[in-house]
Amino acid sequence: MTSTARPHLNRRLAEFGTTIFAEMSALAVQTGSINLGQGFPDTDGPEEIREAAVRALRDGRGNQYPPGPGVPELRTAIAAHQQRRYALTYDPDTEVLVTAGATEAIAAALLALLEPGDEVIAFEPYYDSYAACIAMAGGTRVPVTLRPDGDSFRLDLDELRAAVTDRTRLLLINTPHNPTGTVLTRAELTAIAELAVERDLLVVTDEVYEHLVFDDAEHLPLATFPGMRDRTVTIGSAGKTFSFTGWKVGWVTGSPSLVSAVRSAKQFLTYVASGPFQYAVAEALALPDSYYEAFRADMRAKRDLLASGLAEAGFGVFRTAGTYFITTDIRPLGESDGFAFCRALPERAGVVAIPNAVFYDHREAGAPFVRFAFCKQTAVLEEAVKRLKALAG
Ligand SMILES: *Cc1c(COP(=O)(O)O)cnc(C)c1O
Repeated sequence: MTSTARPHLNRRLAEFGTTIFAEMSALAVQTGSINLGQGFPDTDGPEEIREAAVRALRDGRGNQYPPGPGVPELRTAIAAHQQRRYALTYDPDTEVLVTAGATEAIAAALLALLEPGDEVIAFEPYYDSYAACIAMAGGTRVPVTLRPDGDSFRLDLDELRAAVTDRTRLLLINTPHNPTGTVLTRAELTAIAELAVERDLLVVTDEVYEHLVFDDAEHLPLATFPGMRDRTVTIGSAGKTFSFTGWKVGWVTGSPSLVSAVRSAKQFLTYVASGPFQYAVAEALALPDSYYEAFRADMRAKRDLLASGLAEAGFGVFRTAGTYFITTDIRPLGESDGFAFCRALPERAGVVAIPNAVFYDHREAGAPFVRFAFCKQTAVLEEAVKRLKALAG
């Protein structure tokens, strides 16, 4: 990924020329492979929510610029969701901001909160937009590597503490974590919160998979920990929770001073987005618990199907406690280079996956790991598993 083919791309973004997703999705099309690379569902969310969007569109709600902070119905629904789920109280007028997906929320938060040269600590492997947004904001990313520990990837708290310097401005947290499927525990979050308070750090926490936690894992928002509410920008999104990733409705909650800062940056990115969809998402957030439970149960079954298939195919399989991704280890297959493996996999097995190394600064730390998405129809996953088992010979 050099800039030689992009002579006009500036130095800040030179290393972010193209994403692996474009290359892998093109390979999937060329080879007729099943694409378990990119993480979007192949089935739309609830019909009643789709209908709510149609109704809003027909009724002329949101067809013109909605209010900058988001439509009041949605801001109220977001505040009610945070209250109902987590007993977090936010004022819909001053402490909630609607964004063009979590992607814009991340960009706006970093652009608003960072001074040039500020250091941002983020876990690697990290979601791909983090590094680019830190760079656009003129910040310096400081990765702290999540390492395999038994059947999951864990944070080394001493390493995290050691990464904080006088120039550290912000911790960029993601739980449940893409791509590892790790959900931070109460003890880990307590330690992160104590560190943030002790070193007076801001925290931006990406919790877009808050409703996708499995088994005995529990999603605990960082903002609920002592001393955190007023130093934390919490990011959510309708895309992953309601299976409408194309609608691009996300949000930010936090103290008035943090939210107004993020709003200042956001107004010059998109200004506003997704007018009619905002009304539909307001209805989605108010769906009864049974929706969320059924969604989770469906995804858990898909996780189990893909995880056991990958294990039978010979992969090392890490346990996904949250998100809709499985990270695997290809070394049991006699492989060590995830890039080469993923480039060859479409020809070898008719399946596309993503090499986790693209989510690392320390690429060697991620070399043998490969990510598969399981937010696909059961029949698609079954066919993928059948194909992958051919690898085991
Ligand atoms: C998908 C994803 C996002 C982006 O969410 P949008 O609402 O589609 O912009 C942000 N963070 C993580 C970790 C994601 O997986």
